[in-house]
Amino acid sequence: YQAGQQHKRVMSYQPVMLEQITSRHQLLRELQVAIQNRDMFLVLQPKVHLVSRQVVGFEALLRWQRPDGSFVPPDQFIPLAETSGLISRIDTEVLEMTFVAIEALQAAGIALPISFNATCADLMNGQYVATIFNAVSSGRIDPVLLDIEITESQAMEDYEKINPLLHRFVELGMGVSIDDFGTGYSSLAHVTKLSATTLKVDRSFVSAMLDEDQAGSHVVDMVLQLGEKFGFMIVAEGIETETECEQLIGKGCLQGQGYLFAKPMPLNVLIDWLKPELSCA
Ligand code: C2E
Ligand code: MG
Ligand code: MG
Ligand code: MG
Repeated sequence: YQAGQQHKRVMSYQPVMLEQITSRHQLLRELQVAIQNRDMFLVLQPKVHLVSRQVVGFEALLRWQRPDGSFVPPDQFIPLAETSGLISRIDTEVLEMTFVAIEALQAAGIALPISFNATCADLMNGQYVATIFNAVSSGRIDPVLLDIEITESQAMEDYEKINPLLHRFVELGMGVSIDDFGTGYSSLAHVTKLSATTLKVDRSFVSAMLDEDQAGSHVVDMVLQLGEKFGFMIVAEGIETETECEQLIGKGCLQGQGYLFAKPMPLNVLIDWLKPELSCA
């Protein structure tokens, strides 16, 4: 009965599946070439203090531009890189690009931390972790300018191994941010012992704050309370409207990130964007 059922399912989905497999395979081959050719670059999105709108740091986000000029969104190629084992190579490149960006910003008179996204697999990769420690211990990068982001679900996936590593980063003086917070499956016991400096409230809760059922609003309140009780900085992600910003300020949220303030920008555009701010200081 089961075999028949399966057979039937495979038959009826075959055309779609084949198409998906082929395009996945094609994208994977393209991705391998892109890594070799270094067709990837970082964009930086400012993080601001919500009341003053002063920039407090940046998040580095990876962009892949095809030779024809089109972009492949990270939501497409990051999961592919993860399942194909390419992620650590990519994210090691991201580290180097982050270090270069920190140095370039410092040369322009801007000493603010840059967050970079890491996955569970990265943290299990000795070479990736060593790249961070070496950059700091060699004196190349001031650890206060580094902030590692890992999603809540990834941090919890292998909590017993990941948390001690996060602890080492915090001890070193780096920031540790838990990304997409609220969408994972943290046990509260784990959250209270989490070696992190920051929780980033997921965009979905920010945009649902004004929903009739107030679910989004309550989740934001709860995360802010966790921050207060257990000493995490809270950053709200994906703020798009003045109303959302006002709501968050009213709730006592200090920092945020989103299109309302700035979209992610390449380094040279960002430095120009920061110029008015620099001349004020
Ligand atoms: P994330 O770490 O949660 O990054 C935030 C995403 O939200 C970014 O999308 C950013 O451009 C977008 N965003 C920021 N403000 C707003 C807003 O106001 N409204 C809306 N609608 N979106 C906003 P992006 O750059 O497409 O990245 C998507 C995800 O891909 C990231 O989510 C991150 O998980 C992953 N990713 C990006 N770069 C890297 C990387 O270098 N390494 C790894 N491992 N993952 C990365
Ligand atoms: Mg992030
Ligand atoms: Mg993320
Ligand atoms: Mg996020």
